[in-house]
Amino acid sequence: MISIEALQFQYPRSEFAIQISALSLSAGERLAIVGPSGSGKTTLLKLIAGIERPARGRLNICGQDVGAMNDQQRRRFRISQIGFVFQKFELVDYLNVRDNIAMPFLINRSLKLTPEVKDRIGVLAETMAITELLKRHPDKLSQGEKQRVAICRSLITSPPLILADEPTGNLDPANKQIILELFFEQLSHGDRGLVVVTHDMSVAQRCDRVIDFSTFDSTK
Ligand code: ADP
Ligand code: MG
Repeated sequence: MISIEALQFQYPRSEFAIQISALSLSAGERLAIVGPSGSGKTTLLKLIAGIERPARGRLNICGQDVGAMNDQQRRRFRISQIGFVFQKFELVDYLNVRDNIAMPFLINRSLKLTPEVKDRIGVLAETMAITELLKRHPDKLSQGEKQRVAICRSLITSPPLILADEPTGNLDPANKQIILELFFEQLSHGDRGLVVVTHDMSVAQRCDRVIDFSTFDSTK
């Protein structure tokens, strides 16, 4: 599902560089990435998602050579293969919860908002216990509610690979356990792969493997 070899990346006009000699993820596997702030964890997720592009090396994700794609190809790849739960949710304030969940379908003409998809929004919202919130706007939601919406949005296209950036970072302990339960239950449907960046041991413990970025071969 992920095969990375001799990957190198640097932001323009920045000292920061990331190097990964080898990293792989098999189908349905769950990988947690831990490590200090600024070590490049979010950058790695962005490379896997095709948001950033590596300078060198092999980046094969879901059977596709993402490293060799142009911007448009990477965008298409991302829409069809990746569900991304961003650290700060990245919900759109002027859209209600239903439309936030439907967002991948609203911003990509290649995806059709069919009646089946609309049903699926309802089902997902129900499993994440946010049915009553579907008409509400994000500024009227708690952190935990926003995170549920962000998780629903990451799942709505049924992507084979989910990337989550500190998904419990903004949640109180009680909400955290509930949301983790729901999230991991959803992941097990359809055998989805997961790469989750986390400081949270209760997240890492639910994964098959943990990589510590501070001792990994990602070097500055
Ligand atoms: P982490 O998620 O582990 O905290 P990041 O991947 O966000 O780390 O950032 C790694 C380094 O890259 C940091 O030094 C950060 O300042 C820098 N960085 C992140 N995004 C950009 C960007 N868009 N342009 C330039 N530098 C960036
Ligand atoms: Mg980060």
